[in-house]
Amino acid sequence: MTRAKSADVFIVGGGPAGLAAAIAARARGFVVIVADGNAPPIEKPCGEGMSPETVAALAELGVRTANAGGVPLKGIAFVQRLARVEGAFPQGPGLGLRRTALHAQLVSRAKECGVEMLWRTPVNTIARDGVQLISGDAIRAKWIVGADGPNSRVRQWLKIPTRAFRQRFATRRHFQIAPWSGYVEVHWGSRAQAYVTPVSSSETSVVILAARREDAAFDSAIAEFPDIASRIAGAQLASRERGAVTAQRQLAAVARGNVALVGDASGTVDAITGDGIRLALRHAQAFADAIAKSDLALYERAHRKLAAGPTRAGATLLLLDRHPRLRERVISALAANPELFESFLAAHVGHGNHCDLFATGAELSWRLLAT
Ligand SMILES: Cc1cc2nc3c(=O)[nH]c(=O)nc-3n(C[C@H](O)[C@H](O)[C@H](O)COP(=O)(O)OP(=O)(O)OC[C@H]3O[C@@H](n4cnc5c(N)ncnc54)[C@H](O)[C@@H]3O)c2cc1C
Repeated sequence: MTRAKSADVFIVGGGPAGLAAAIAARARGFVVIVADGNAPPIEKPCGEGMSPETVAALAELGVRTANAGGVPLKGIAFVQRLARVEGAFPQGPGLGLRRTALHAQLVSRAKECGVEMLWRTPVNTIARDGVQLISGDAIRAKWIVGADGPNSRVRQWLKIPTRAFRQRFATRRHFQIAPWSGYVEVHWGSRAQAYVTPVSSSETSVVILAARREDAAFDSAIAEFPDIASRIAGAQLASRERGAVTAQRQLAAVARGNVALVGDASGTVDAITGDGIRLALRHAQAFADAIAKSDLALYERAHRKLAAGPTRAGATLLLLDRHPRLRERVISALAANPELFESFLAAHVGHGNHCDLFATGAELSWRLLAT
């Protein structure tokens, strides 16, 4: 009689969250299996910009990014018509890197750590003592992780109430064109935003984000951004166009019994925050710390703390998106006082404290009243 396969931790989904959770759990001595319906390197529509904090979280997991083909990012620029404000990341450069290249680095690190990875292996359902694969095979596990993305089936199987609001539509294209600025550029138009990230020395990613699906159609939306349109005119496409839906999603809980949700499965922030990958990596580490103490309540608490800042940042950016006059005044005020933008950026990427953020907000409000 053959014994059913087993592991300490079984992870549904081998994207950034699932692989990071696998690496973090292996580092604490657990036997880990990851299964994904897809095969590496896995592509996904994404802005592909990583803050210095994200790069640091990857380094903590031992994931090497130095020679992965990406380019350093100096910071973030907001652009609206003639107004432009640039803020440098306070703690050094971030990284622009194709998702496929990031995935390859995560897979390589997971392999090095001894994680068992089952590719082209969709999970059909979960039970109290393990999972069942589409093939019908069962795998026993003490802990189960749902790292299966924003439309998580694990979350549905657990029947965890989820609130999704401010849904927006995205289309992404890569162009064979060398980066024209070392910044992630967020261009604000009247119906859409364009989000430009250098991802290698010869490729640039452009994401269109809009509240209405028809406003996210790439060819018509790009006309709102003549500066980008003229730069990409005639450039070859470096990938096929991909679409996605982004939203602010909050869950009533991120763990139930012996099952935990990590990454986008456990809630999302709007794509414009550029913070999804950092959150996924931090969830992974918090999950591994919690199971090392056999207590998923610790993970629940850590997750709530991690979500607070990015949720606030997402709400602020979406507020600016809905109110063009306010946005114009804010960008002009920041352009006249770039140090204020850098303070906001520092708070967003986890540097600076609540007092700094409050002081920056008060200073900005004063400048807005004064203009
Ligand atoms: C338009 C857009 C732009 C973005 N830009 C940025 C950015 O610039 N910077 C940033 O940090 N973040 C960005 N994000 C967010 C970022 O892409 C996500 O936060 C990140 O991909 C989350 O990783 P994940 O592993 O949780 O989910 P995913 O990457 O979605 O991975 C989930 C995996 O689960 C697998 N899976 C699903 N169901 C099953 C099943 N039943 N069995 C087995 N496998 C399964 C899938 O095949 C997939 O590989 C952006 C998001 C969008 C939509």
